[in-house]
Amino acid sequence: MMAQYWSLKDKAGDCLLFYRMGDFFELFFDDAKAAAATLDIALTSRGEHGGEPVPMCGVPVHAAESYLARLIRAGHRVAIAEQVESPAEAKARGGSKALVARAIVRFVTAGTLTEEALLEGRSANRLAALAEVGSEGEVSIAAADISTGRFEVVAVRREAVDAELARLAPSELLVSEGAEAPVAGARQIVRRPAGEFASTAGQKRLEALFGVQTLDGFGSFSRGEIAAMGAIAAYLDHVGTGSAVFLQPPLRVSASDRMAIDAATRESLELVRTMAGARDGSLLATIDRTVTAAGARLLADDLASPLTDKGAILERLDLVDSLARDALWRGELRATLRALPDAGRALGRLVAGRGGPRDLAQLRDALGGARLLREHLARRADLPPLLARLLPGLDGHGALVDELTRALIETPPVDAAQGGYIAEGYDHGLDALRETARDGRKAIAVLEAGYRDRTGIASLKIRHNGVLGYHVEVPAKHADTLMAPDSGFTHRQTLAGVVRFNSADLHEAASRVTQAGVHALAAEAAHLETLTEQATQRREAIAASCDVLARIDVAAALADHAMSHNWCRPDLADEPCLDVSGGRHPVVEATLAKSGERFVPNDVSLSEADRLWLVTGPNMGGKSTFLRQNALIVVLAQAGGFVPAASAKLGLVDRLFSRVGASDNLARGRSTFMVEMVETAAILAQATPQSFVILDEVGRGTSTYDGLALAWSVVEAVHEVNRCRCLFATHYHELTRLAETLNALSLHHVRAREWQGDLVLLHEVAEGPADRSYGLAVARLAGVPAGVVKRAEAVLAKLEAGREATGGLAAGLDDLPLFAATLAAAPAAAKDALREALGAIDPDALAPREALDTLYALKRLMADEA
Ligand code: ADP
Repeated sequence: MMAQYWSLKDKAGDCLLFYRMGDFFELFFDDAKAAAATLDIALTSRGEHGGEPVPMCGVPVHAAESYLARLIRAGHRVAIAEQVESPAEAKARGGSKALVARAIVRFVTAGTLTEEALLEGRSANRLAALAEVGSEGEVSIAAADISTGRFEVVAVRREAVDAELARLAPSELLVSEGAEAPVAGARQIVRRPAGEFASTAGQKRLEALFGVQTLDGFGSFSRGEIAAMGAIAAYLDHVGTGSAVFLQPPLRVSASDRMAIDAATRESLELVRTMAGARDGSLLATIDRTVTAAGARLLADDLASPLTDKGAILERLDLVDSLARDALWRGELRATLRALPDAGRALGRLVAGRGGPRDLAQLRDALGGARLLREHLARRADLPPLLARLLPGLDGHGALVDELTRALIETPPVDAAQGGYIAEGYDHGLDALRETARDGRKAIAVLEAGYRDRTGIASLKIRHNGVLGYHVEVPAKHADTLMAPDSGFTHRQTLAGVVRFNSADLHEAASRVTQAGVHALAAEAAHLETLTEQATQRREAIAASCDVLARIDVAAALADHAMSHNWCRPDLADEPCLDVSGGRHPVVEATLAKSGERFVPNDVSLSEADRLWLVTGPNMGGKSTFLRQNALIVVLAQAGGFVPAASAKLGLVDRLFSRVGASDNLARGRSTFMVEMVETAAILAQATPQSFVILDEVGRGTSTYDGLALAWSVVEAVHEVNRCRCLFATHYHELTRLAETLNALSLHHVRAREWQGDLVLLHEVAEGPADRSYGLAVARLAGVPAGVVKRAEAVLAKLEAGREATGGLAAGLDDLPLFAATLAAAPAAAKDALREALGAIDPDALAPREALDTLYALKRLMADEA
């Protein structure tokens, strides 16, 4: 057995090997250790290998799916080795000791799933492949979601690979053996033989996959693009989905049709995932009101790739707009869509050969719903152009829907094994078989009554089980009656309380029932196959209809959210501007709303003549929030949605950049000043006059002088060279001097006030520089002990005096009194008085009036202290 195991394990490579033994999949050696740890199941052992016990664990076959799901989620890939002959066949082949032949029938990997239970309904699941052919510095990326058949390919410059992968967020990424692998974007990198990335072989593989003579009908592809797509086809072959896989003809996307957003920017703006990787808390999760899973997947794609084509954006905006204006219509549409099943993924399962009656019913219901929707929409007079264009795509499945409606019962089972899913009246032969089976069962009931009469045993029953089939059962005390030689019954089995018999009549009736049942099952299975074939032949048209439904869902969802949150339709301008009044950050606003707090709206107005805003003000004052809300407004607008503002006008943005100073995102654990500078370098290299850049606390990750100097020169470069629209937040007050020399730079600050010794952050952006940094006030707000803050005030006074006198920052520190001296002078006594008073209170003993008086007294004590 071990020899067989090792040869399979060899084929499985770095996948865990599920080795089928009876009702279990067993894992051995390191596979067993890894699986036991991930699944939290017992690790046992079996036999010995090289003098050591062999570690082993197993999962029951009937529950394998849920275990697979957990292994895949934990980043494993699994090879399934099944028994490919029965024990009897093995015996006939090789004698009684022969080992049952086994073979790997399938690889289960994160990027090639179609099972409903293993997939997240509201997210796409992509398999991507990278190919670099020739030396032009261009890399092709193909991405397939085989659960819905979407297949796209794009060619980008090598520097943009990470950005593109971040957009696609594939769950598995194929790269050629020996090629350099990108770091970001993919959860799992799988190395495949270089031969699978060859463009000539790839072309053949794709032609075979799509059953075409040439790929020309799908568009013209570069060799690199064909290589990347071919690698996907080869991998699908390898994992065992092979020709059964659902891929739509490849769609060639052009990087310039979409806003360029690199990986770091995506991460920092938390478009579809938070920095911690969760969907919750992202822009997507905050605004997602889609009512279908396909809609949710499309909205995620839209937010991840905003458009750059004005016409296309306006088309989407018009649709959202008309849905926003008509709440009744919107509500009807959403109610209709909500009831429709996820036909895209049902189709994926059917094409992959893993579909069942339930999947066909989902197609029936979704496509039937789509047809009604089309009729309903066609009656509207003022249909927005996008909808008018998409509408025909909803229909054309009439014959299939009718056939499925006639063929299937209302709610068929997921699994075909038990039959019963083909409707009465669809096939007269099947009806007759069922009738026979029914008659047979009736005959058996008649027999039962007759036997009771004849034997006088009222407790006699005819039962059915898997081993004996139909049989007569009587309590043990009556057994003798039936045991009599001329009773007409044959003894079959004696159990503790009952004895079981057979009879000739029963046998005959039973075999009629069983035979009819077997034939009926076979007839149903044949129908299932034909219907599946009819549906999958129309796969592309069905997938297109699903896309249309998803697009309507997204538009209605955006409109719905916009209306309930007072969002507005953005205007698109031809010149590079960004004019927003009353702008808000949707995620921060939603978070504040939970605790009943109000978000303070803010305006921005960037134009060619005033394109760089330098924003200063205290920490926690709202600078980052202000920067990000404007980036999000740009993303939302170009994704074709309304924006969180009272009004907004923008010139289209070709590239969006967001950078956060190193010390601000230390939480990510890997950020260093180096990363910050690498990212800043990318902006300076790539931003164009059509770009929008937000820079938050750049230069913070190094010493004061270095940081200030860098921030200074970065602002100058952005202003003079890139000439892009830019919001630059900084705590370096010194940068405000730049306003004197840079004419398209203006100064702004987030307002704060000190009021009765407390710092009040107004979160309001106003013109001009901040009057001071409020750093010490923020420290006090944060609970830094009063003594330490007082000491800092002293140090600050000296520093400032020294700087004025000598120009040296630390020059004034020489005659600074010792720390201990300031501490001694700190009002420790008053603080203790407050503690003492607090300690003396017995809340239970206070009348309401007294409690209030006590509170006032405590406030007075505190005022004394300050
Ligand atoms: P900074 O970048 O100036 O340090 P942040 O933008 O991180 O400040 O904001 C700090 C906190 O202040 C936010 O987490 C949020 O709770 C609150 N805040 C920011 N902007 C606003 C606003 N416009 N209205 C209300 N609260 C805000």
